[in-house]
Amino acid sequence: MKQILGVDIGGTKIRFGVVNENGKVVKDLTVPTKLPLYPYLEEQILELKRVYPNLTGIGIGTRGMVDAETGVITFEKELEGWQGTSVKAQLQAATGLQVEINNDANCAALAEARLGEAKNFRRVICLTVGTGLGGGIIFDGQIVNGTHGGAGEVGHLILYPHGQLCSCGRKGCSEQYVSGSALRRIIKENNLLDSETGEWILPHQLFKMAANGHIVAKAIQEQFLSDFAIIISNLQAILDMDCVVIGGGVSESAEDWWELFLEKIEPLKLKPLEVKRASFGNEAGMLGAAMLLI
Ligand SMILES: [Zn+2]
Repeated sequence: MKQILGVDIGGTKIRFGVVNENGKVVKDLTVPTKLPLYPYLEEQILELKRVYPNLTGIGIGTRGMVDAETGVITFEKELEGWQGTSVKAQLQAATGLQVEINNDANCAALAEARLGEAKNFRRVICLTVGTGLGGGIIFDGQIVNGTHGGAGEVGHLILYPHGQLCSCGRKGCSEQYVSGSALRRIIKENNLLDSETGEWILPHQLFKMAANGHIVAKAIQEQFLSDFAIIISNLQAILDMDCVVIGGGVSESAEDWWELFLEKIEPLKLKPLEVKRASFGNEAGMLGAAMLLI
């Protein structure tokens, strides 16, 4: 059976998975991210190739923006030296295997669309609410990349013109309102402290407090969910997808807010739309990366 190496490159960890063509993971390994990244990555992959000689290809999902055709990282500020790296050409030369590379949120979306919650839908958008807000568009089982690899950058859809400054240099991007880091900023602004530790509360604690009727927490949650619903409505107006899948760390506490969230979306829908919670957790990026070759 065909085996693909799926690689998910994050800011602090790199996850490797040897994945069979049916999507079954036979080896799962996580190592810390080290710089300079390319030589370290190549070394790790060559070692895995020695252990798994039947590998037929390598799929990589990475932070930042990627030109999927050329396999070059076109934008990434956190991982020093990674931007501009010609990953696909260099790794193909080093391993002799076919290499495909894409953005990590696109890979996570591909896993959901091919194997997960959205596998019976044709036009899928997957939103990953973690530290940031990532997005991936999968139409007919394929990633929609756009001209420069920038399609699906939902986190940089402007939600509040002239609003909070974003890491992209513009103001008012959705990521500044709907993400884990946005919630942390708002928690600090409202000085919501954990009574036991004296530290600022975490997003999942905020949702728990809202569920228990805390007035400030409820107001923050209300704003968060209504902003999130508007993003989905805007995406529907452009793309008319049939399914939206919500994943990422913040969505792990969704049992506390999911019903309310669906209620917020309902009046904003232009057409029927399924909104679902992701099937996969952290493994989505690695699985989807392997799916780039399956
Ligand atoms: Zn932005």
